Order: sequence, then structure tokens, then C-alpha cells
Amino acid sequence: MTAQHTAAQHTASRYSAQAALLGEYADSLLGVFGSPSLVLTHGKGAVVTDADGRDYLDLLAGIAVNALGHAHPRWVEIVSRQLATLGHVSNFFTSPQQIALAGKLLSLAGAPTGSHVFFANSGAEANEAAFKLARRHGHEHPGPDGRPRGTVLALESAFHGRTMGALALTAKEAYRAPFEPLPGGVQHIPATVEALEEHLDGTVAALIVEPVQGEAGVRELPEGYLRRARELTRRHGALLVVDEVQTGVGRTGRWFASAAELTGAELPDAITLAKGLGGGFPIGAMLTVGPEVSALLGAGQHGTTFGGNPPATAAGLATVTVIEEDGLLEHARAVGAELGEGLRAIPGIGAVRQRGLLIGADLEVPEGAAAPFGPAVVEAARDAGFIVNATGPGTLRLAPPLILTQEQARTFLDALPAILRTATAAVTAPAAPAPDTPPKEA
Ligand SMILES: *Cc1c(COP(=O)(O)O)cnc(C)c1O
Repeated sequence: MTAQHTAAQHTASRYSAQAALLGEYADSLLGVFGSPSLVLTHGKGAVVTDADGRDYLDLLAGIAVNALGHAHPRWVEIVSRQLATLGHVSNFFTSPQQIALAGKLLSLAGAPTGSHVFFANSGAEANEAAFKLARRHGHEHPGPDGRPRGTVLALESAFHGRTMGALALTAKEAYRAPFEPLPGGVQHIPATVEALEEHLDGTVAALIVEPVQGEAGVRELPEGYLRRARELTRRHGALLVVDEVQTGVGRTGRWFASAAELTGAELPDAITLAKGLGGGFPIGAMLTVGPEVSALLGAGQHGTTFGGNPPATAAGLATVTVIEEDGLLEHARAVGAELGEGLRAIPGIGAVRQRGLLIGADLEVPEGAAAPFGPAVVEAARDAGFIVNATGPGTLRLAPPLILTQEQARTFLDALPAILRTATAAVTAPAAPAPDTPPKEA
């Protein structure tokens, strides 16, 4: 298992079978992801293996995607059987899997009769659909001045995806600026109840929020925010769209993170899902709550070739079924709590934000650090046999498979102090002098 690999083993053979493959990667793959750090060849449960045969405990799960870990036997069986039976059919046709998954998602959400599902292939696409839904609402329900509602409110630090529409909803300037002009009408407001009260009026078509901002470092909304957002969007005739792409499908120990505040008559008008939904198979979804919202997008107004095809929806059904049958919501809450508590007890770890198995841990950046600390911790963890993620220079994000065991969680907690020491040494070590520069005399 992972922890049996020493840091030395991992470092010594970094330049081997993988080096050649990574060189080929750089020759043929577009550089948008920078340089991947590993070539992975197989996985089982919460463990993945690289091209040099080394194991890693996967505490990121493909960014909150592999809910059932890698190669889960029941998931593999169901998806394989589907592929061998009927693969793709297009949306001129449907399949029993597609209908079953839509019904299942609506029932898990507790959505009322007249609610519907649109299947896409990713989180960005699910949010594109929600953006179009918001525009339709703006046209169909003009504001008090009789003009279409043109504004979509999103939050500062929000992440909703990278395609042009989703990017318009995403806040980060560095992601947006190179691609302007983006679709208009989006306004980013602070994640406070005061800002909601100030900006929600009859010009607003929709408010889109993540129940927990994953990409921003697992940042929580203020207590009661979603309930207040529900009240105010209703009062002003705007839609409430909740982006559960990262938080949905059990990640936070509930089917929907927003259900902590919004249930029954308070449900959002639309919920988007993706990451964890397919357990590793690409699929996204938008749930439209109630008949009025569902009627906003009619025949011919939106579409996708692949969305909701039989293998993708079979994968979604397999994921949801295993989560349900194996009690993984409870399990995620229990293991998450243990990880959160363990992290809080480790020197060098600051604030810890934990909801189920979505965890953000602030790092105390060492004094005089000459390089970003988060990435240094990610590298030291990798060398020690753990895959983790930094959402910035000072925050570690964990989003492990929901099947992670208590023992596996503990191996990471046990290894973390040494990982932090290695990372600290890496960022504070004086830079080696360039070869042709003679060392300076004291
Ligand atoms: C990852 C993510 C997206 C984008 O999903 P993709 O599948 O990468 O397009 C959108 N919203 C949230 C909250 C996310 O975490």
C-alpha cells in the first residue's frame, strides 16, 4: 500500500518509464493543463498506480469525480454490460437507463411533479443549460418596468466552468480576461446576505450559487444564505440556480449539499450536477424544479448529441445505486469527520472546512517561503504516496472517493507532518547558485 513507499523511493525513480511518456505528452497535447505530474495506468478502490508501478492513495478522486473509487466491481459490471448491449443512440431516441436516472435524481432531490432533467456531458455544459434557462426566464417574465430581466447574479470567487457561457458566470479574472468579450449581463457580488439584499431586484433573471465554493478552497456560504437567497429570489421573481457540480451526489454526505438549507417548497428552481454523478464516466445534468421552470426550455431550444446516452446514464445509475446500497452517505460523513478532526490536530494546518468528504485545509505558509507552499505540499505528498490538491498557495483540498476507509484516512494523517516538513524545507532552502556563478564571498 501507499504508505509503504518511502519518499526516497518515489523521488529516486521519478525519471524513468514516465519521463518518456511525459515528453511525448508535451509534444502532442495542448498545454492548457501545464505538465501533468504522473502517468497513471490503473487503479483499484482508493489507490492508483503510475507507469513506474508506484501506488498512491487517491485523496482527490479525479477532482471529486470517482465517488466509488477506481474500477469499482459493480460499476464496471453495469457499465460494461451496457456498452456490450447498446452504446450511443442520440437524442432522437431514449433508453430505459436515461429515463430511470432522470426519475431517480428527481426523487433524490424531492422534486415536485412537473420537474424534469436535461442531461449533458460536463459541469460547464450543465451550467450552460442553466444560463440559457435564466435567459428564457428573463424574457418570459419581464421585470416590473416591462423590460426583459437582463441580469444574472453570480458570486465573487465562483467557479462554474470554462466554456464561454459558464466562464461568464465564473469570477476569476485570470480565467476571464483573455477571452473577453464574454456573454453579457452577469454581475458578480460578494457572498454576503447584505449584497444579496442590495442587488436582488426586478432586473434580475437568476442568481447562481455553489452551496460550498470548491475551487475557491472549499469556502462555505454564510449560515442561512441559501434560505435568504430562496426568499429574495421568490420575492423579486428571479430564479435560484444551485451549482452542485462539485458538491452533489453524496460528496458532502448528502445527495445535495443545498438540502442542508433548502428542501420541500424551498427547493432551488434549478440544480446542476456533473463530477460525481457518473463515478468517472462523463455526464452532467440540470434538474428543473416544477412545471413552470421546466417549460422555459421547449422543443428545439437546447440540445446535445451525446448528453444522457445509455453508457453515461447507466454509469450514473450504477454510481447512485452503489452509494445508496452501501450506505456511502453516512460513510462519507463519518470518514470526513475523522479526517477533519485529524487535520485540525496537525501543527502547520490552520482552519479546516469539512463537509462530508469535501475538505479544505488552510496551510500555515512558512516564513520566508520562496515558492508557493500549496504546490510544494502537493509534490511532497505525491513523493510520499498521496494524491492531494492545492486550490491556491495556502489551501489544501481533499475530495477522496466516498469509499475511502478510516484506515486509509489515517495513513494520510500519520504521514502529513513529515510531508509538511519536506515541503517547508523545499520552499525555504536557499536556491542553489547557477553553475557558472562563483559563490559570493561572505
Ligand atoms: C468543476 C466544476 C464545474 C465545471 O465542470 P466541468 O465538468 O469541468 O466542466 C462547474 N461548477 C463547479 C462548482 C465545479 O466544481
